[in-house]
Amino acid sequence: MDYAHILNHLGENRDQYFGAVSPPIVQTSNFAFNSLDSFRASMGNELGTHMYTRGNNPTVQILRKKLAALESAEDCLVFASGSGAIANAVISQVNQGDHIVCVQSAYSWTNKLLKEFLPRFGVSTTFVDGKDLVAMENAIQEHTKVLFLESPTSMHMELQDLPACAEIAKRHGLVSIIDNSYASPYYQRPIEMGIDIVTHSGTKYINGHSDIVCGVVCASHEIISRMFSKEYMTLGGIISPHDASQILRGLRTLPLRMKQSNASAGIICDFLGTHQAVEAVYYPHHPSFVQYELAHKQMSGCGGLFAVQFKTDSRDKMETFFNSLTRFLLAVSWGGHESLVLPAVALYDIPGKENPDMPVGFVRFYIGLEDAEILMEDIKNALADW
Ligand SMILES: *Cc1c(COP(=O)(O)O)cnc(C)c1O
Repeated sequence: MDYAHILNHLGENRDQYFGAVSPPIVQTSNFAFNSLDSFRASMGNELGTHMYTRGNNPTVQILRKKLAALESAEDCLVFASGSGAIANAVISQVNQGDHIVCVQSAYSWTNKLLKEFLPRFGVSTTFVDGKDLVAMENAIQEHTKVLFLESPTSMHMELQDLPACAEIAKRHGLVSIIDNSYASPYYQRPIEMGIDIVTHSGTKYINGHSDIVCGVVCASHEIISRMFSKEYMTLGGIISPHDASQILRGLRTLPLRMKQSNASAGIICDFLGTHQAVEAVYYPHHPSFVQYELAHKQMSGCGGLFAVQFKTDSRDKMETFFNSLTRFLLAVSWGGHESLVLPAVALYDIPGKENPDMPVGFVRFYIGLEDAEILMEDIKNALADW
């Protein structure tokens, strides 16, 4: 993949804007035409021309070209959030009476979409263990239209075998969709493995600076142009030209950021994996990971997100640990410059949020762009009494 070309040149027509190196923010809602003929032509081709910013905007279009290329996709659309992107992708593939097969432990709002929202419109979902391909295939019914994957998932980092899942979907005439937020297109490209639609929370690695919420859907021209003229234009969950410009800036450093987080997370997982306070480390490229071989087969790296199960049932002990950390912020989300911790206990005593797979000592770590040694020292100090 020619990242240098994609990130620095693709989609940028600098001679159209005074040779400016950084593309302009085309902050306009609509576009004027100099002849009735060109106006009429645009009416018939809203995706291919510039008429109205809910449809197509030049700043957003540069971003779309780069993101599609990074995912080896023909085209892409950008949305106001990752959840908006996922909802658009799923809704675009189902009608009343249809059925979806989805992996367990997908992102919480994906679950809500499938468990609570879509049933109101007559669309049902069966959830399966994504490691069990037989169960996955057995869950397919006569009206199943979509196979929804998330690999790795973002709490226990469970993987699905993507070429095998793509093959199952093809054999049964289903559209396969994957949430690829964890790996980013830098470390995993599902379309090259036969998956039909790739979604991202662009809020995470794609923007990478914790200052924008956005989402991405990548797919074939056919899928994207249909989605554009139906769900995308109807639901209108677009990003602004200004946000597109910010995301373009973030995207320029995607490889650098991914490599830095990946290298540091590897070092810190190695350290935690041998620490007496730790029961398990969940990081797909860590040698102790149950799906280690599959992870190496389909992901060229992991990035900065992993989870740790500490050996304790004590909420107090965990609280002391979090209070002792000075380099990690207590927060949701991930993919930015700053390192984070998300304790399981933060979800305790809240109706609908508690998860039996996340005991007291379970913590999700995100390793940002800081020096690994500094972060490791901070964790070491916080574990000094264990
Ligand atoms: C954050 C996240 C989402 C949702 O994205 P938003 O941009 O917050 O709407 C979806 N999937 C995964 C795996 C995520 O981490």
